[in-house]
Amino acid sequence: MALQLRADPIALTAALVDIPSESRHEQRIADEIEAALRDQAPGYEVIRNGDAVLARTNLGRPSRVLLAGHTDTVPAADNVPSRLDGDLLYGCGTSDMKSGDAVFLHLAATIAEPAHDITLVMYDCEEIESSANGLGRIERELPDWLQADVAILGEPSGGFIEAGCQGTIRVVVRASGTRAHSARSWLGDNAIHKLGDVMTRLSSYEARNVDIDGCTYREGLSAVRVDGGIAGNVIPDAASLTVNFRFAPDCTVDDAVGHVHDVFAGLDVDLELTDSAAGALPGLTKPAAAALVAAAGGQVRAKYGWTDVARFAALGIPAVNYGPGDPNLAHRSDENVDTAQITAATDMLRKYLLA
Ligand SMILES: [Zn+2]
Repeated sequence: MALQLRADPIALTAALVDIPSESRHEQRIADEIEAALRDQAPGYEVIRNGDAVLARTNLGRPSRVLLAGHTDTVPAADNVPSRLDGDLLYGCGTSDMKSGDAVFLHLAATIAEPAHDITLVMYDCEEIESSANGLGRIERELPDWLQADVAILGEPSGGFIEAGCQGTIRVVVRASGTRAHSARSWLGDNAIHKLGDVMTRLSSYEARNVDIDGCTYREGLSAVRVDGGIAGNVIPDAASLTVNFRFAPDCTVDDAVGHVHDVFAGLDVDLELTDSAAGALPGLTKPAAAALVAAAGGQVRAKYGWTDVARFAALGIPAVNYGPGDPNLAHRSDENVDTAQITAATDMLRKYLLA
């Protein structure tokens, strides 16, 4: 049966979960979403891009709200089709993130006169390597479709608005010395010993808590790997420690690299940057985003980790995660969503989109 977008979003969530859609196997769910939008969301311009479906109103409103959700899931774990047990709907993708998709699709089909123009982006391949991410492809092929005043990604966030994200860098801290037989250790210069001072600085490091737009970002500077040693009787001439710095989005990658250099200043080590991703400012003071926070009753918190929110931030568009479901349940065989959260998210977003 065709997807019923105007049905209760709880039932719509179940219908979406019952269409298996592991990453790269999303043609059927995209076909069904496309057909339902063409049929049940009058006034929307609908296009298809690969296994992504995009739809938007063109009402000439002063602002545009983009609602984005991925339609893929991790491989099912014997948890499709969905199963309702009391208030909980179980199944692969119930929280991550077909309940969020259902809320967005339902709102598109039931709000005839939104206060903002609406763009809906249902995209593929979010759960696998980022080079396959459908949102990245849309950014390359259909950039005008991503223009908006605020973007809401319906990832599970437990009913909170989760804003921005932290940046991350990885730095390899290398010590070098002189190789020697350990029986005559005074002839050598032990590179591993030089890492001791590096670790002392890490263990006494006091991370910042940074408050931006009502979100607290808690930073961390951590050793995540150690390498060194040649043999049980050799003074090693090389050793390294890999350090990961998760930093608040008031810092750029360059700021973060500079900070890590400062932390290890004066030590006999070399630093090499091996990986970086910028953070994303929450941007919640911009009007379209501030209204969203108000509609959510101020329930806002920082997002940890990197998400597709950062793609929008890089385009200068304030972006948040907001969706039903507990992020800690994502990708588990007992994945479920509290159906009351589906209703609450639908009500909140309806109020926001009509205001
Ligand atoms: Zn997700």
